[in-house]
Amino acid sequence: QVKEFGKNHFRLFTNDMREVVSRQSRIANDLHRALENQEFSIYYQPQVSLASGRIVGVEALLRWNHPQLGMISPGEFIPIAETTGSILQIGKYVLQAACEQNKAWQETGLPELRVAVNISALQFSQPNFYEEVEKVLHSTRLAPHLLEFVLTERLLQESKGAIETMNDLKRLGVHLSIDDFGTGFSSLRYLRLLPVCTLKIDQHFTGAIGSDPKDASLVKTIIQLAHDLGMSVTAEGVETQQQEEFLRHHLCDYAQGYYFSKPVPPKEITQLFSKQLEY
Ligand code: C2E
Ligand code: MG
Ligand code: MG
Repeated sequence: QVKEFGKNHFRLFTNDMREVVSRQSRIANDLHRALENQEFSIYYQPQVSLASGRIVGVEALLRWNHPQLGMISPGEFIPIAETTGSILQIGKYVLQAACEQNKAWQETGLPELRVAVNISALQFSQPNFYEEVEKVLHSTRLAPHLLEFVLTERLLQESKGAIETMNDLKRLGVHLSIDDFGTGFSSLRYLRLLPVCTLKIDQHFTGAIGSDPKDASLVKTIIQLAHDLGMSVTAEGVETQQQEEFLRHHLCDYAQGYYFSKPVPPKEITQLFSKQLEY
């Protein structure tokens, strides 16, 4: 009986494995045609200044509506797109679309907004990345200071010319920030050398405010550290009023999260602004 159970257990396990692998290879395959089939859309999540309560920026977050599998989370398909290389085309599309969208918002008379675009390591380490950025800014006529690149700590470790490219981009006037801060390597000496404007506190730490005092105290430390280095701080994943108050009290500059708004389609951003004006 024990043996039989063992066998079944094994079979179950391999079936699960097969399912995972076939879903991954399906995704890898279908990613190639997703762009031309126009299955992607971009949602935008507001970033709020904690001092004024106003929306000062938005983060572009990719959405994929697969014709058979339905909505697939970028947490699932981005890592696959990175291994197959399709992230290069996808990333180009997001950059172009986000800049066009921000320019369009400007032209409808919205206050200045910075649009944050996540950049994958492979995309950032392309030798022509800088030229690509210049081209997009030129063709969309978006002012460089209204564009932000969100880079991961892993990216900075992996791509060799990263600091040089960062310096070039900063000279161009683009805003640079580091994502999920506190979860990666975080060598403090290295951090000091980076031409970065903003640290983004990972949502794990934000979520600890009000429940885990040790992680909450790390939030204070990161805010202090950023300010000491002349950088600003954005807290990600703010979900409660208590978290908002804690962050504001400890002089965190910006915040984003479901407490303010989830990521929304572009026209809802315009609506949020018309509400904001009513105050
Ligand atoms: P991220 O850049 O750290 O983005 C934050 C994620 O947290 C987003 O998930 C967002 O929807 C979610 N989020 C925002 N507020 C809250 C909150 O209050 N609570 C919780 N629990 N979650 C919140 P999303 O949209 O599923 O994206 C997941 C990740 O996929 C992103 O993490 C980013 O690393 C990657 N990603 C998304 N779009 C792109 C893209 O265009 N290019 C690249 N390279 N990566 C992207
Ligand atoms: Mg991000
Ligand atoms: Mg993050």
